[in-house]
Amino acid sequence: MSDDIRYDWQPEEIRAVHDTPLLELVFRAASAHRRHHHSDEVQVCKLVSIKTGACPEDCAYCAQSARYETGIEPQPLMDKDTVVAIARRAKANGVSRVCLGAAWREVRDNAQFDRVLQMVKEVTALGVEVCCTLGMLTESQANRLGEAGLYAYNHNLDTSESHYQTIITTRTYQDRLNTLRNLRKTNITVCCGGILGLGESIQDRIDLLHTLAAMRPHPESVPINILSKVPGTPLANQPDVPFDETLRMIAAARIVMPKSVVRLSAGRARLSLAEQALCFLAGANSIFSSDTKSMLTRAVPSPDYDADHEMLDLLGLRMRPPFKDHTRSA
Ligand code: SAM
Ligand code: SF4
Repeated sequence: MSDDIRYDWQPEEIRAVHDTPLLELVFRAASAHRRHHHSDEVQVCKLVSIKTGACPEDCAYCAQSARYETGIEPQPLMDKDTVVAIARRAKANGVSRVCLGAAWREVRDNAQFDRVLQMVKEVTALGVEVCCTLGMLTESQANRLGEAGLYAYNHNLDTSESHYQTIITTRTYQDRLNTLRNLRKTNITVCCGGILGLGESIQDRIDLLHTLAAMRPHPESVPINILSKVPGTPLANQPDVPFDETLRMIAAARIVMPKSVVRLSAGRARLSLAEQALCFLAGANSIFSSDTKSMLTRAVPSPDYDADHEMLDLLGLRMRPPFKDHTRSA
């Protein structure tokens, strides 16, 4: 293991990294990126909303919470064959990870979960990595997903522990940590990150990075989302996140968790090509792309496959194949 992988980062040290003069910070992050990754590779992921809306949780940013009038039409759990067909099309477009997202508070042990397990098996058999984001999991549910061949599970902490309760009241930070702990008892990789623009302070962002960087091992994948402001939600009128703050967060994540894949996620559609290029330079090495111009629901826009192929070509970046160890041996 490389000697710059650390689990003992102190919040003040992370703050000092984050506050480094911007181009020096990008240079340091780019150097860490090159030490641990093939810096010309980007993983392209496709998110499929397998069950949409009518969620009982009150996440203040989310178009899918039943508590807000967001105009999203609820959709029951998709049938397996539809999901497999979407995954097949995604693979043909170079996608190496398919993420199946459900607007559930938690997984229940029922026929719907059985159907998701079947989806995991069949999409994995196509030769792509499968990630699920289904809400909270028990240990036995995590095991069953692992047995079905699940490659990754996404469960975001979103923000700092202290800011969390102003964003979500229907579950606690500890609930999230418990699911992450259950996942770590399996061989499923962990995808866990946050959202910028929830009204958090810079210190909240540092505290989130500190929580993630103290995990042993670090999450294999760290999504950095920029809030998509959804009309009807309590956060609809939040101010925009300035680009330099997004860049700082990506670079700081890259430096404190150098082996992890850092994913430029929701909000990328708002960034110019030059801004995205700076994010890749600063260590972002994964994106979501889509054939539908929407990431999960139409409330969260996404660039499409063609636009992304063009961008990656222009920047001299390649799509990373699935199941490839993303790290150079140290
Ligand atoms: N219900 C599951 C859960 O909460 O874990 C999975 C689905 S949820 C939509 C997946 C993640 O998308 C959330 O954890 C959040 O970080 C992100 N997300 C949802 N709505 C967003 C928005 N409007 N802007 C940015 N990120 C968003
Ligand atoms: Fe439900 Fe997930 Fe949206 Fe929260 S983020 S309201 S849990 S779908």
